[in-house]
Amino acid sequence: MTHLTQEALALAGGEPLAPMLMCPAWPPLNEETAQGLTEVYYGGNWSFNGPHEQAFARDFALQHGAKHGIFVINGTVSLQCALSVLEIGPDDEVIVPALTWLATAMAPYYLGAIPVFVDIDSTTLCLHPEKLEAAITNRTRAILLVHAYGSLADIDAIRAIAQRYNLRVIEDCAHAHGGKWNGRGVGSWGDIGSFSFQQSKVMTCGEGGICITNDDTLAELLYRSKHMGYALHDHARMPTSRPPTSLICHNFRATEFQATILHHQLKMLEQRIQVYNSNATRLTHYLEAIPGLRVQARGRLANPQSYYGFVVIFHDGPLASVSTEIILAALAAEGIKAGISTTYGPVYHHLLFNVPPAAYRIAVPGCPVAETLATKQAIVLAHQWLGADEQTIETLGAIFMKLVTHAGTLQKLKGVV
Ligand SMILES: *Cc1c(COP(=O)(O)O)cnc(C)c1O
Repeated sequence: MTHLTQEALALAGGEPLAPMLMCPAWPPLNEETAQGLTEVYYGGNWSFNGPHEQAFARDFALQHGAKHGIFVINGTVSLQCALSVLEIGPDDEVIVPALTWLATAMAPYYLGAIPVFVDIDSTTLCLHPEKLEAAITNRTRAILLVHAYGSLADIDAIRAIAQRYNLRVIEDCAHAHGGKWNGRGVGSWGDIGSFSFQQSKVMTCGEGGICITNDDTLAELLYRSKHMGYALHDHARMPTSRPPTSLICHNFRATEFQATILHHQLKMLEQRIQVYNSNATRLTHYLEAIPGLRVQARGRLANPQSYYGFVVIFHDGPLASVSTEIILAALAAEGIKAGISTTYGPVYHHLLFNVPPAAYRIAVPGCPVAETLATKQAIVLAHQWLGADEQTIETLGAIFMKLVTHAGTLQKLKGVV
């Protein structure tokens, strides 16, 4: 393979290194799930805490080390419900990492609370514990941490800080299905863990989300908050008790169809994560031998590490100053045509972030790591690449090698693409 990396870059008119390279298909399809969906369809029991929802929510929570699972329509309202049952409201500050999807910042905003953006650690790309501590004020009520891409936030350090300042901890695990910290599932370490099942996530039913918790009272409130106030064992149109007046209740109910798809996927989750871990190790091995490249560090006590994406960082050398747009174009020309993107970048620079400046805060002294390293020097391979065969993983490594070999050419292309 090495001789191929010497050929001219495809972006500069050379032969593509791997023109036939295929990104593994997503989402996963199987006959057994299709059969299950047909049964739900003809069964006619499509919603309202049906048997599939109950079984899935219970098993998903159990697998992540929690007693309760509350299934909802997406991973944004799951965060909103989590903050709401923890009584986060107007003028409360909620600390969020600068590098994450919009949802993490919008959830506190929906409740009138103030998202406070804190910078990330340059190795894990997750919330930086010391910078977090420095951002705490007397209005801070909660830390909404994110286990981003292929790492886990430092749960121990963050929980210790939360204890010292009497803050709540919510784990946004939208990138971390099946991941474990120090032997126990992500999402079970904070007061509440939140997951998304949107199309791109490691488990998906198109749209969906779940909250998990070990706290019986929070579980009851979460259930009521997504179910228009109904208590867990109430029958449709026959509520038996009134929800607390302080609790705003919504209809965030998902259907039996979604639960059926996810319950099948849950059975394969552990094995999927295992394959992702061995391929991530293999790819890391190839990439870290290339000068100027590194990969996002795994979570300090992650085993296994879950992967929503595999982040490659051009931290040093000639590629560090080449724009991610040119790098993505060069990778596409060599054969990595799908399942690759830039990172989200800091939320407050996102095109869709329309929150007025008075309604959020960027912690002093700003978020240079999220703005520079994560935005200008990193790209993300979607998790499904980690489900590829060994040959494909080796080819991915060779393509990155080829780019670094020709970094000088890419530098000259500045502004051309
Ligand atoms: C996907 C995602 C969510 C939730 O998104 P939905 O599309 O509403 O399910 C929350 N946080 C992060 C970090 C995400 O990537």
